[in-house]
Parts: sequence; C-alpha cells; structure tokens
Amino acid sequence: LASRDFHPDDTIIEVKGIKIGGDELIVMGGPCAVENKEQIDEIARLVKAAGGQVLRGGAFKPRTGPYSFQGIGVEGLEMMAEAGRKHGLLTITEVMTPEYVDIVAEYADILQIGTRNMQNFDLLRKVGTTQKPVLLKRGFSATYDELLNAAEYILAGGNPNVMLCERGIRTFETYTRNTLDLTAVPVLQQLSHLPVIVDPSHGTGRRELVETMSKASVAAGAHGLIIEMHTDPDNSMTGDGVQSLFPDQFARLLQDFEKLAPIV
Ligand code: PEP
Ligand code: MN
Repeated sequence: LASRDFHPDDTIIEVKGIKIGGDELIVMGGPCAVENKEQIDEIARLVKAAGGQVLRGGAFKPRTGPYSFQGIGVEGLEMMAEAGRKHGLLTITEVMTPEYVDIVAEYADILQIGTRNMQNFDLLRKVGTTQKPVLLKRGFSATYDELLNAAEYILAGGNPNVMLCERGIRTFETYTRNTLDLTAVPVLQQLSHLPVIVDPSHGTGRRELVETMSKASVAAGAHGLIIEMHTDPDNSMTGDGVQSLFPDQFARLLQDFEKLAPIV
C-alpha cells in the first residue's frame, strides 16, 4: 500500500483545508516540549506570524533517560489544542503508547510517531485504526525498507493518511547529533507516494545547521519540514534548546523559503 508501483499518484493529505503532499511547502514549528500555557501560546503566535501552518510540541516525551523531564501529558495536549485554535494552526504531537492514541487524537490534528517507536507495531496498528493523519519518523537505525514497512502497518489497518519523516540516522559521526540523510527524500518519493517531511532539528542537533539543512531539504523536494523553535531555548525543559531556532531565525527562514517554494 505504501508502494509507488500500486499507487502512482502522490498522496495528498488534507487537514482542515491544508494540503500536505502537494506543491505547497508545509512548515511545522514549535518547541520540543509543551512547557506551560504562556510558552505554547506565544510560540504559536510566532509560528503563525512567520507563515507556518502547523504547531509542533511534545506533551509526552520519549526521553533516553528515565529521570529526564517526561512532558506534561494531557494538560499539555489541552494547552496545545487551545493555542492552535486561537492562532489558526494545525497541531502535531507525539503519541507513545497504544492506550493513549484515542486521547491524543481527540486533541491533535496530526499524530507523531517518534523515531524510537517506529517499530512499535502495536502502536502502529492502533493508529491504523483511526483516520488521523500520522507523521511517522524514521527509526534512527532503520532502512528505507523498514520505514516503508512501518508505514505499511498503518496503511494496512485502514488509515491512508501517513507522512514519512527523515529525522537523521545514527552513523559514526559524532559532531552532529544524527546524520541527516537527505537522500531519503528522493528515494522515498521514488519508492512511495506518501508525503515526505524532514526534521532538520533532530537531524543535526545544532541550531546553526538547521537553516542550511532546511533549505537543502526543500531543494531535495521535501513536502514539508518540522522544525524546533523556542522563545528561550537556553532554558527549554528538554535538552533540545541547542537545536531550537530563535523566533527571528525561524521567521527569516520561512521568508527565504518563499523564494524556493510557495508556502500555503
Ligand atoms: C521530537 O520531535 O521532539 C522527537 C522526540 O523526535 P524524534 O522521535 O525524532 O527523536
Ligand atoms: Mn525534540
């Protein structure tokens, strides 16, 4: 079902009037984690003002260590939904377990499956039973074929609204947090009809590389980007402040995109 061979036309996912997978570049921006009402409201305002269409932010965070901040949970979902409504943005947030799919789906417009859960097959099956758009992140050690098979689980369950996301893979290089594999963009588009989104924030782990790699993603043909942005990155509650753009950088980047591709 994910294969281009049996579905030659690009899949376009329409969410509340926004088309993902067509000619228009989709930009999802926001903090790594929802921290409080003021934070997400202010960031939503800035994402909208910059021309983004989707607000990102984690309420349930998949942290490498059990003692790290794990997200504020359902309260965060509420804050994010409210900010999205107020500022006219779609919302995307991660769901980590099958039990939480229904509740997250109630609040968010797009469900995010994180890199660590790409092969959580029970979770994939569960999101496959909904019709919610799903952004499926490539596992950090997953091949293209494994990513497409993970997408297949969701599609086979009856949910056709899947986006693939390249977010960097693990290599021998340690300068960057991950190695952003931009070859994934044309390869996934050749093999599949599903929209391809790039996450240059987790893909590099370094703020100073995000702008360049965002533009490179667009040049490679990505349908959209998911970018971390924070009003006070140095004090963000996850370690991801170092890869988060400042609001003015985010706004400038989106202006530059207008020169490369139209934004909705
Ligand atoms: C995130 O988007 O904040 C995130 C945790 O991403 P990933 O699953 O790619 O690490
Ligand atoms: Mn993050």
